[in-house]
Order: sequence, then C-alpha cells, then structure tokens
Amino acid sequence: MIAVLKNGTNDTQIKKLTDWIESLGLQVHLSKGEYQTIVGLVGDTSRVDEDLLISLDIVETVKRISEPFKSANRKFHPDDTVVKVGNTSVGGDAFAVMAGPCSVESCEQVVEIAKAVKAAGATLLRGGAFKPRTSPYDFQGLKAEGIEFLLEAKQQTGLPIVTEIMDASHLPMFEEVDLIQVGARNMQNFELLKELGKTNKPILLKRGLSATIKEWLMSAEYIMAGGNENIILCERGIRSYDSQYTRNVLDLAAVPVLHELTHLPVIVDPSHATGASRLVKPMALAAAACGANGLMIEVHNDPKKALCDGPQSLTPEQFSDVMSSVKKILG
Ligand code: PEP
Ligand code: MN
Repeated sequence: MIAVLKNGTNDTQIKKLTDWIESLGLQVHLSKGEYQTIVGLVGDTSRVDEDLLISLDIVETVKRISEPFKSANRKFHPDDTVVKVGNTSVGGDAFAVMAGPCSVESCEQVVEIAKAVKAAGATLLRGGAFKPRTSPYDFQGLKAEGIEFLLEAKQQTGLPIVTEIMDASHLPMFEEVDLIQVGARNMQNFELLKELGKTNKPILLKRGLSATIKEWLMSAEYIMAGGNENIILCERGIRSYDSQYTRNVLDLAAVPVLHELTHLPVIVDPSHATGASRLVKPMALAAAACGANGLMIEVHNDPKKALCDGPQSLTPEQFSDVMSSVKKILG
C-alpha cells in the first residue's frame, strides 16, 4: 500500500504518520521525490484502516500495490535508484561498464586486464574469486587470494571491484569489495540473500538460470526486506531449448519491462548470455540501445588459455572496439 502525501507536508507531520504506521507492526518505505513524497507501507496492510489513512489532512491518495514485490516496486519509489559503488555510480544517467576476466588467475593477469579495460573506458573491474562451476573438477577460483589480487588491481587503477559471493560465511572476506555479485545459480539462495540484506554493501543480483522476472524481483525484495536497498539487477540470459548456437537466450525485453516495474538499475551481461565472443558486441550494442544502465563483459588477456569462459571472453582490443561503438549508441 502507498500513501501519496500532499505538497508542503513537513517532516514533523511525516514522522507522526510513519510512527503510527510502524506502531501497527508495518515497515515504512519513504520516497521523497522532487515533487512528491510517497510513503510505502510494507507488511500485513490488512491492519491499516484505509479510510482513516485517506481522511488524514496530509494524505492525497492511497493505493494498494497488488504486486508481491513492494520495496523494489517503482510505485513505491518513482525516481530511478542510483547505487553508489566506490567512486562510481550505477543507475540514472550513468552508464556503468564492468569488465574483466571470468576468473582471477594471477595478480599479473588481473592487473594487466584492469589497466586495459580502464583505458578502454570500463568503470568497474570484474573478476571471479569464488567460481560456481558446473563440474566439481573444474577450476574453482583462487578464493581469498583472488580477492587480494583484485584489491591490488583496484589500488593500481582506481577501479572499484565486483566479485561473486557463494556463501554468507565468506562475507568477512568481502569487506573491501565494492560490489558483491550474487550469481545466477544463487539467485534463489534465500538464506544468502537475507544475510546480504543485513549489510549495506551494493549487490549485483544476476537473473537465475530460468527465473521469471517476478521471481527475480522477489529475490531483490529478500535483500531489501533486510534494509539493504543498494541493488543492481543483471540480465544474463535464461535457459531455453536451443543451446546449440547461443549459451542462453538474452531477454532484452526484460530491460524496459524492469524499468516499468522497478526503480532499481538494470545492466546486461552479453558474455554469459551468448557464450560466444563474436556475439558479445552486437548484444552489447542492443543492450545500450534498449535502455540498460550498463554492461558486464568478460575480458581476458589470452582468451584461448582462460581457465574459465574463454570462448565468450573478449581480448582487450575487442573490448575497446565494443566500447567505442557503445559510446556512439549512447550519444
Ligand atoms: C560470472 O559472472 O562469471 C558468472 C558465473 O555468471 P552467472 O552467474 O551469470 O552464470
Ligand atoms: Mn564467466
């Protein structure tokens, strides 16, 4: 349920209203826009006397929100959310580009790639330290050491870093990580999401392998219900019946749909969506053209020798070419 307040309502009046709502056992989500203040009521709103609420002097209208995702809902928060990540931002007018290797393989490798992607215009460095591999016999990542190498690359380039968490017990290792990624395989790991909700770290929430848009937003809601509203959504393709030519099906329509449904920023990962380096550029351009707030792209200094996801990784030169074309689309 939302209550749209009348223009000119002051902070004391808002406080009185929110105290009353909280006394009913509900959570309050306040959105102060340039022209309107919206009070979102989260929880069992059957306890609220709607007629009483609407009769208050400061209340203009009251609406019930039928969607199960409340905090993530644009009706609660009409303005775009801009998530601050280190020295950069994701959402609103900013276009974020997260680039780097699928997995961190050595300090030299990640520093070299970080310098190259920064020179080409990337705004964040990505790199997996904990890798969710389909086979337990495949390279599982350098773990804590991988995070140290990312921090060294951050130190040398100034790029904020994004890396994936797989277990809430690893959180202490992520203290200096700027953006914590929840991978597709963990999108519905609700215990992990709840723990991340207790932190104030920005979270990159990738779409699950076969998650619907609503399920994805409900996962964001799990994090937000704990009080952490710093969430960026990442479309990375979904499972379908034809994986012969593309690894996944890139659902670009999800981008404008999400912009309607939620205030959270949405970025696109054309690398995992397609699984093929030659398809990354056209899909990156399409993502920029359809209104994504940014991209996540895998870049490797020697893709043929990559320990993970080599076939979909761009060389630094190819990445630089993608960046110049993306800039043209963005204008
Ligand atoms: C990754 O970003 O390297 C990754 C494993 O992505 P996803 O969870 O989308 O498969
Ligand atoms: Mn990968």
